[in-house]
Amino acid sequence: MTLLEYLDSHMSLPIDRAATPRLDADAVASLKLMNVPGDHMFIAEYSHGEWRKARIQAYRPIPFSPLALGLHYAQSVFEGMKAYRMDDGRIGVFRTLRHHERFNRSLERMLMPAVPAEVFAEAIHTLVDLDRGWVPPGPDSSYYIRPFVIATEERMGLKAADEFSFMVVGGPFRPVYTKPLRVKVERTYTRAAHGGTGYAKCAGNYAAAMYPTKLAQDEGFDQVIWTDARDHAYVEESGTMNLMFIINGVLVTPPTGDTILSGVTRDSLMQIARDLGIDVQERAVSVDEVRTGIQSGTITEAFGVGTAASVAPIQTISIDGEDLSLSVHDGCTMFALKQRLNDIRFGRIADQHGWMTIVDGTAR
Ligand SMILES: *Cc1c(COP(=O)(O)O)cnc(C)c1O
Repeated sequence: MTLLEYLDSHMSLPIDRAATPRLDADAVASLKLMNVPGDHMFIAEYSHGEWRKARIQAYRPIPFSPLALGLHYAQSVFEGMKAYRMDDGRIGVFRTLRHHERFNRSLERMLMPAVPAEVFAEAIHTLVDLDRGWVPPGPDSSYYIRPFVIATEERMGLKAADEFSFMVVGGPFRPVYTKPLRVKVERTYTRAAHGGTGYAKCAGNYAAAMYPTKLAQDEGFDQVIWTDARDHAYVEESGTMNLMFIINGVLVTPPTGDTILSGVTRDSLMQIARDLGIDVQERAVSVDEVRTGIQSGTITEAFGVGTAASVAPIQTISIDGEDLSLSVHDGCTMFALKQRLNDIRFGRIADQHGWMTIVDGTAR
């Protein structure tokens, strides 16, 4: 039976429970247990043109052939999303369908098979439900969900794979960035070029970013701000986050395209800004505008936005060796946006855009 047939027949996913759960509910609740995988994982295999053998099983290492194509040629795509323990105790997953759309865009670019929306949603929601004890309580805590597909076909030599695994793992998570960032505008290395893969969450993009990021960290920066590949004249993203500014009170962010990844956090914060009556502009922002804007005081805030950190304030931007400083304080617009996003995620205000899926405990 294929995965879709399972779902069509209203059978639930086969679940092979962990024989010895590692869950220590007290450790999760007191946030002592962080950044470790939960007890279960989802896995399905693709061959002969179909997803098959979908199941949930105990989290464990997976055997691969040393010649699995994904290990050599990076046919490997992932997503990063989160579930929250809401104030009333329910567990909610944030924007599953939006993440799914991007997953399939990434998979298409890497010549990998699409995952049907029902399969993606069922896999994630069932896994989170089963491991609900691993979802830590707020205020900034969450359960990080990592869906991914990798080419598993064994083959000596380059070829586009015909066999893949789709897996979902997850675990309790604390925000990555705690203090305001010091970032460097990158004028030498490139993350993404037109016609390339910058819009896809494919493994190779992250491997290629590590060396320039390490060089910046050796100079005392937390991250780089990537600029356009041709002239290094326009800012694009900050590390693995989208970039936003407050300029004359307006929320300004560079437009997504093939070099700027379409962040779910970015999209959500733009919507929230509009809901709060803040003007939003998607437009190119040059490095020169960042410099003169901070100097003249028209740019009052800069921040990175992404699932991991949610909102990461930027305190210092270094442009060609010159440090430009911003004041990060409680009254910043970015914190009002983040607060409202959290209010939706934790169920404190109405979910007017239908972003949360409540997992209801039926998998337990
Ligand atoms: C994942 C990612 C983001 C942020 O996307 P979210 O959906 O908000 O997590 C931004 N830029 C890059 C390069 C990313 O990989």
